[in-house]
Amino acid sequence: MPTYEYRCLRCKKVFDMVLSIAEHERLKKKRTSKCPKCGSSRVEPQIANFLVQTSKKS
Ligand SMILES: [Zn+2]
Repeated sequence: MPTYEYRCLRCKKVFDMVLSIAEHERLKKKRTSKCPKCGSSRVEPQIANFLVQTSKKS
């Protein structure tokens, strides 16, 4: 499952959330994800830091 990095717009705390794509889309629309530090729902996904877990072994 992909890990999404979110940033709180209020306290600038960056935190990770492990979500399925469907869950992520739902949270993006409803904005129900919350900052673990201050509890603000004003969080923004950090698409640039989107981490993809692949099964590739180098
Ligand atoms: Zn916060």
